[in-house]
Amino acid sequence: MNGKVWLVGAGPGDPGLMTVKGLACLRNAQAVVYDRLVNPVLLEEAPPACEFHDVGKEANCHPIPQPQINQILIDCARRGLRVVRLKGGDPFVFGRGSEEAQALREAGIACEVIPGITSAIGGLAAAGIPVTHRDHASSFHVVTGHLRAGNQPQEWHKLAALPGTLVVLMGMAQLREICAALIDGGKPALTPSAVVMHASTPLQQVVSAPLARLADASEAAGFHAPALIVVGKVVSLREVLAFDGPK
Ligand code: SAH
Repeated sequence: MNGKVWLVGAGPGDPGLMTVKGLACLRNAQAVVYDRLVNPVLLEEAPPACEFHDVGKEANCHPIPQPQINQILIDCARRGLRVVRLKGGDPFVFGRGSEEAQALREAGIACEVIPGITSAIGGLAAAGIPVTHRDHASSFHVVTGHLRAGNQPQEWHKLAALPGTLVVLMGMAQLREICAALIDGGKPALTPSAVVMHASTPLQQVVSAPLARLADASEAAGFHAPALIVVGKVVSLREVLAFDGPK
């Protein structure tokens, strides 16, 4: 009898931000296949006898190829195990969870998705940045800064024209180009902007600057992935909403 795979969202970083359903699933797992972005504290919730597969390792800077990850999931399930595929944020927001679900379906393996809080929303909140606000943003747009080779480049000039909050994931390697392309597309150079690194964890750091100065400010502060880039008037609310409240 085949086992089953649960694609579980681990939330943005703070282990307390995983769902109740996801945690119950993790506590009942026989194999856990996890990514680099998953807080290691969460792995302690799995039964000690559980198998652990770290597929976030970058041996010689080459990430484990996706087909190999799919195969690990399929093999574990074919051995009859209850498999938790633990992914940062929400499993279907970038990070290729949907491709894993497709591969499992094609292999005839039962698969269930347990959503998580995406860093695109929860990570900003942890930095005191609300993704919407009636006076400042009535929409938000979440895009990736990193596209597969051969894909159409992101149409930054079109994104620049949207009045809502713009959130860029996986954009740190291109931060300078992204900011320049947005300004080139008509986004005002003074638009409040920020980079949030290691959001919702004790390592969280935020740098905030007008769009035209964001890349310089982020570079000067030594920021790097994983980080969220956010552009929009809501960033100015951070002054009021960022607080070190009870954890
Ligand atoms: N599925 C995930 C996103 C995977 S893509 C989600 O829903 O959040 C990976 C990117 O997410 C990173 O490059 C970074 O831009 C962002 N990210 C995820 N966790 C983060 C965190 N704790 N702090 C800042 N950025 C984070």
